[in-house]
Amino acid sequence: MQDEVRALLILQDRDRRLIALAKDLEKLPQDEARAKSKLASDEAAVTRTHQALLDCELRVKKIELDAETRRTTIKRLKLQQFETRKNEEFVALGHEITRYEKDLDDFETKELEAMEEVDGFRSANKAAEASRANTRKLVEEDLATIAQRHQRMEADRIEVMAEREKLLANVPQSVIPLYNRLMKTKDGRAIAPMRDGRCEGCHMKLIASTVMKVQTGKEIAQCEDCGRILYVEE
Ligand SMILES: [Zn+2]
Repeated sequence: MQDEVRALLILQDRDRRLIALAKDLEKLPQDEARAKSKLASDEAAVTRTHQALLDCELRVKKIELDAETRRTTIKRLKLQQFETRKNEEFVALGHEITRYEKDLDDFETKELEAMEEVDGFRSANKAAEASRANTRKLVEEDLATIAQRHQRMEADRIEVMAEREKLLANVPQSVIPLYNRLMKTKDGRAIAPMRDGRCEGCHMKLIASTVMKVQTGKEIAQCEDCGRILYVEE
């Protein structure tokens, strides 16, 4: 193989690595976003259970207020009953007191039930918070891994770029524009091996004079169909 084609092949290998690295680097923000999105459903669960807890606590307070109003009324009625001298009124007040006491009893039962519900919502909220903390830890680990990958790829990129600069010195300047153009238009494969008289880049059969040109290797030979620079594999 011609030395210049050999040098171009090594250059192409490094350029392909740079293209792959650039693609991987482009994907990193998506990986980061995906990792962070894992927290969203856990965050929502914490918000939901917290709201349910607050609502239930508010309900307990309302029942407490209702119960307290009944207690005040009962106290007032009892005082009225104590002060009255009319037997009829005494009996009527007694009925009213019984009715309010029954009411109060109902509110107290409701309050106990609601307080049990508060306990339930509190544990659900705690469980949701624990789950979020767990997920957060995992997400942080993922993000750290992604950051490490980013650093490694950046270091690789800098290394390969430096290598590429050195390799460029071995390639004749006249071929570089052709090589660059082919790298762009032929999806990062400017050079293709010739096999059984065919270009392995586009799989077209080559004409005899091109086959000869590649075999003698005295000058740069291109596929007459796709334009790729051809070489004989060793
Ligand atoms: Zn071709």
